[in-house]
Amino acid sequence: MRKASRFFSPQPSHECNSEAGVGSGAIFLAVVLLIVLIVIGWKALSNQAPTISLANQPRGLGQSTQLAIEARDGKHNVRRIAVDVSQNGHALYHTAMVAPSGPVHWWKPWSDAQSVVDWAAPLNRRLIPGLAEGTATIQIAAINDSWGRLFRGGESRVRLTLPVRFTAPQIGVITTQHYINQGGCDMVVFHVSPGTVESGVQVGKYFFTSFPVKSSMPDTRLAIFAYPWDLDPSTPAEIVARDDAGNQAVANFSYRVFPRKFHTDTIALDDAYIARVVPPIMSETPDLDDQGSPLKNFLAVNGRLRQIDSDKLIELAKQTSPTFLWHEPFNRLPSKTEAYFADARTYTYNGQVVDHQTHLGFDLAGLEHMPVLAANDGVVVMAQFFGIFGNAVVIDHGAGVQTLYGHMSQLEVKPGEAVKRGQEIGRSGATGLAGGDHLHFTVLLDGVPVNPTEWWDPHWIHDRIQAKLEAYR
Ligand SMILES: [Zn+2]
Repeated sequence: MRKASRFFSPQPSHECNSEAGVGSGAIFLAVVLLIVLIVIGWKALSNQAPTISLANQPRGLGQSTQLAIEARDGKHNVRRIAVDVSQNGHALYHTAMVAPSGPVHWWKPWSDAQSVVDWAAPLNRRLIPGLAEGTATIQIAAINDSWGRLFRGGESRVRLTLPVRFTAPQIGVITTQHYINQGGCDMVVFHVSPGTVESGVQVGKYFFTSFPVKSSMPDTRLAIFAYPWDLDPSTPAEIVARDDAGNQAVANFSYRVFPRKFHTDTIALDDAYIARVVPPIMSETPDLDDQGSPLKNFLAVNGRLRQIDSDKLIELAKQTSPTFLWHEPFNRLPSKTEAYFADARTYTYNGQVVDHQTHLGFDLAGLEHMPVLAANDGVVVMAQFFGIFGNAVVIDHGAGVQTLYGHMSQLEVKPGEAVKRGQEIGRSGATGLAGGDHLHFTVLLDGVPVNPTEWWDPHWIHDRIQAKLEAYR
């Protein structure tokens, strides 16, 4: 077509040529302008907005509630989050946060940057004096920095209708006598008012969760609690209960704490020991970098990896069953005790002190590769190579109580498997940080190591646990 028209058309003059140039230039400009207008119009009319999510979805507004809001945008920056509280159609409270501005790519339809803004919006009675018990509406809005909604930014909204309650839960303490050895446990039984969603015993930085005494009595709770080995025995303990609106009650109960002296021990490190125990642990722990020398590697395993393992045990405790899975005292392997609970260990190398750590279990030694027996009925929650403990098993016995078996040569159970008291779960060994073949045994309460001696003692089990629960059988 183009070819044909050129063939038959007369030779174009200069004038003609320049006229045609102005015409196509104008059309080109018009087309560009149109495209720009279409892009701007399309951007301005869009409502690509952030998504809003709430961590710990609040179930009510109380004396002091925090909304943990997360606004997330995959194409633009989150610019602002606003919260409005109203009751019976009356606006009571407005609060907003402006997010720090992110990079703006105005020449692109959108950027690919992920924008995530977290905000803990406080909603308490002091900030909203007009708030009354009843029902309140909360509106959360998140706005991005796009040109959407006619240059006001894309906006998304979430509306919550929540009950408002200001009365704290009621706590009634049922058990009267509580005697706790430093490093050891006791159990308190108490009653909470309906609507309580979390309760337990707070001892300094430690919180020990409660569980129902039986499933048909959800408001009568038992909480096994400890005075961990590293806590000052004068630290106060109190029962805490929180409801679904964030109201918190605190109750005192009577108890006595007996300070305990723990053993001390010195471990002289030598090159042969370090060369034997450290490389296998390092090879099983890719996150732990080579520190440049065998001694430095040992210190990283003994310090940092020990801490990582402790944190994992705290996480693992969250898998505990809400009911007791056992009926008898805990079983102790008939073997020689080589180290005690909470031994303060000093490590020397070439006569120099190089480290201090606390040994938070019992070391039990017998024959090489002796059968390791489950201390009580429960469910295996871990059976694998586990840092300083080498090949290890953790059994959950319910209500926050778990037992750990370390340094094994052979594991004979798998996670999820139910085990019986006295059942063989593997064989002793010297894997992990072990000087020779033995079983390292730890009793954990909510992931915190406690003195196993009490759990092996039938009188202690009867007086501190079973007798207090007889009324609920
Ligand atoms: Zn040990």
